[in-house]
Amino acid sequence: MTESNNNLVGLDKQELRDLAIALGEKAFRGDQLFRWIYRDRVQSIDEMTNISKTFRDILKRQTAVVPLAVEHKKVSVYDGTIKFLFRLKDNLKVESVLIPPTEAREISEDMRRLTLCVSTQVGCPADCKFCATGTMGFFRNLTVGEILGQIIEAGRHTPRRISNIVFMGMGEPMLNYENVMKSIDIIGDDEGIGISPRRITVSTVGYVKKIKQMADEGRKAKLAISLHSLDDSVRTRIMPINRKHNVDELIDAAQYYWKKTRQRVTFEYIFFEGLNDTEKDINMLRKLSGKVACKLNIIPFHPIYLPENSELRETLSPPAGDSVKKFVNRLQQQCDFPVMLRSSSGIDIDGACGQLAVKEEIKK
Ligand code: SF4
Repeated sequence: MTESNNNLVGLDKQELRDLAIALGEKAFRGDQLFRWIYRDRVQSIDEMTNISKTFRDILKRQTAVVPLAVEHKKVSVYDGTIKFLFRLKDNLKVESVLIPPTEAREISEDMRRLTLCVSTQVGCPADCKFCATGTMGFFRNLTVGEILGQIIEAGRHTPRRISNIVFMGMGEPMLNYENVMKSIDIIGDDEGIGISPRRITVSTVGYVKKIKQMADEGRKAKLAISLHSLDDSVRTRIMPINRKHNVDELIDAAQYYWKKTRQRVTFEYIFFEGLNDTEKDINMLRKLSGKVACKLNIIPFHPIYLPENSELRETLSPPAGDSVKKFVNRLQQQCDFPVMLRSSSGIDIDGACGQLAVKEEIKK
């Protein structure tokens, strides 16, 4: 067993086959375990009724199905968004956000879409200046079991099936690459969680080697890049990763990904009033079309808790009036790729990345 604490959640099919063989059973018992854990999402080994009692007893002596503990759950009265704060074995906390569709958000897309935003790390080392998680520092990577546990537990709190997964919660997925990709393999398996990799999005601030690795490995999950500015001086101010991999390198990696996978890249662009909303920004964004097949999501900045000594506390402002709508309209007129205005989900429950966890940490 490679997953910690003898938890069966987090083991892939081959590891479960190996476990079955090591415990004196045939390999196909591992496949049965896989289906019980991820497809049927049982909460105990005793629920695995097509497995003999003898083998279940052997399993129970050495392993368990360990659920993630829900510390808090908040439901938005505005849009039905549900935010979970999960407590891990070592008492650290991570959060996930379950986002239902709204008419405004999903005009032409599948109206039944139910998206779970999943965390990949406790805290985050990327230190983006607009992000509450970034202010926490970094604690550790999540295990595969902890990543999948978020999906399994969140699924118990809705009568509907989770249809989409976005790795946009706490943490930078590319810095926990192996565990994230192993999770995606289990999520995408028809006998596992059963969500097509085409409905899974991995979001990165721009770890270019990992973007290229994803392309080289032929991964089917979609790629989103947190862009927020094409101006190196602005991007470096709000995203320290830009010192390591500047905008040219990032766009080069996006091009590489597109050429290798033929999958369109999604660029995420948080709109900060007066910072990344100028004529020059529109011109730079317009030119993306000649470089990479993409779509652009504009997200109005949602004010967050920032430490009093943050140098950007006064600089990062949400849109004033209808400035973001005007910005989007201009882009839509000038760009030959899709430009969408996205809303912030669960504003009344601190729906933006990292906020609830930060408040909990502060309380402690
Ligand atoms: S935006 Fe994402 S990558 Fe940046 S600090 Fe927050 S969690 Fe980390």
